[in-house]
Amino acid sequence: MPDFATTKAMFHIPKGMIYLDGNSLGAMPWATAAKVERTITDEWGDMLITGWNKAGWMNKPTDLGDRIARLVGAEKNTIVMGDTLSIKVYQAVASALEMNPDRKIVLSDNGNFPTDLYMADGLCKTMGDDYALRTVEPEAVEDALSEDIAVLMLTEVDYRTGRMHDMKALTAKAQSLGIITIWDLAHSAGALPVDLAGCNADFAVGCTYKYLNSGPGGPAFIYVAPRHQDVARPALSGWLGHDAPFAFDLDYRPGAGIERMRVGTPPVFQLAALEASMDIWDQIDMQDIRKASINLCDRFIAGVEATCPTLTLASPRDGTKRGSQVSFRHAEGYAIMQAMIARGVIGDFRAPNIIRFGFTPLYINEADVDGAVSILKDVMENDLWDKPEYKIKSRVT
Ligand SMILES: *Cc1c(COP(=O)(O)O)cnc(C)c1O
Repeated sequence: MPDFATTKAMFHIPKGMIYLDGNSLGAMPWATAAKVERTITDEWGDMLITGWNKAGWMNKPTDLGDRIARLVGAEKNTIVMGDTLSIKVYQAVASALEMNPDRKIVLSDNGNFPTDLYMADGLCKTMGDDYALRTVEPEAVEDALSEDIAVLMLTEVDYRTGRMHDMKALTAKAQSLGIITIWDLAHSAGALPVDLAGCNADFAVGCTYKYLNSGPGGPAFIYVAPRHQDVARPALSGWLGHDAPFAFDLDYRPGAGIERMRVGTPPVFQLAALEASMDIWDQIDMQDIRKASINLCDRFIAGVEATCPTLTLASPRDGTKRGSQVSFRHAEGYAIMQAMIARGVIGDFRAPNIIRFGFTPLYINEADVDGAVSILKDVMENDLWDKPEYKIKSRVT
């Protein structure tokens, strides 16, 4: 397996930039542009519609699903790519609710990413007045599990603070009460080792444009445990999830296994971009990533706490209870982050007061961490954030 100095050279990081936002949009592998260009010119251009068979376009959602499976501890033939994560959340919640027809409650926590909550709430409203999304504090989830709950839907790593849920323990407790579990791996896949099979997970979903470097708008994935695949009815019953899409039957019949979670035509160029990044990820051991990530995060926390006394750590101090990101709180967080970005350190801001930094060992090393700490120290010590132009909010923060 390549060392991290080798993998760093595989990514394009603009000169002079320290990119600590790979948790939001992963960096671009150098190989991606050529791979996508070949897909456009040699495949779409030369093969036209024959590319679906000849270039294997139609198999890519499951081929790539199997490659991602290794990173998240999933069995073969349990993951398919497509759509965006919001859509995959909807699919998982809809199938899971139907598998527990006597219960009407979806439980989540109020630290979950809003789109997951919005999608579940919207679906409950469609299902009828007796269905509801219930949210509790993240720390209260375990005690809130009860026999009236149909589905437990959680994101393993909190997008704001990096706090982690105990996937194995919560899955076991939920299942002992007859609850079906859905795990969102948006901040886990490519960030830390995940063991879906070992946790006996029911459903999982995730995206690829964060830690997995597939590029903006890259396809999401959905996992369905082997034992559920022929039971889970796909609510989004698109033609490519049909058992025989090219029979053009008038009646829908769900496809075999994970294929039924496909909806419509796959995004071939985005899948090509994902293939280019998976060519790197295929060589990586997630245990090595975890070790390096904890080291980088610990180093950043130590550096910031030693130099910036007005910033308060918002992430767990214990690296084993944290994802691959570090967040600090400050009332002027937005302006502080703008001042950092103006000086080449890219992180992001999450309302109301969180500045967030992602650590991605494939292309971030200790020198980057030290560079970021020294710029943050300068920004804080000299109040460099205190400028009107740093306080104007952009559309994307
Ligand atoms: C990033 C993220 C999303 C984004 O959903 P899209 O549909 O891909 O825009 C959803 N859920 C979680 C938990 C996320 O972290």
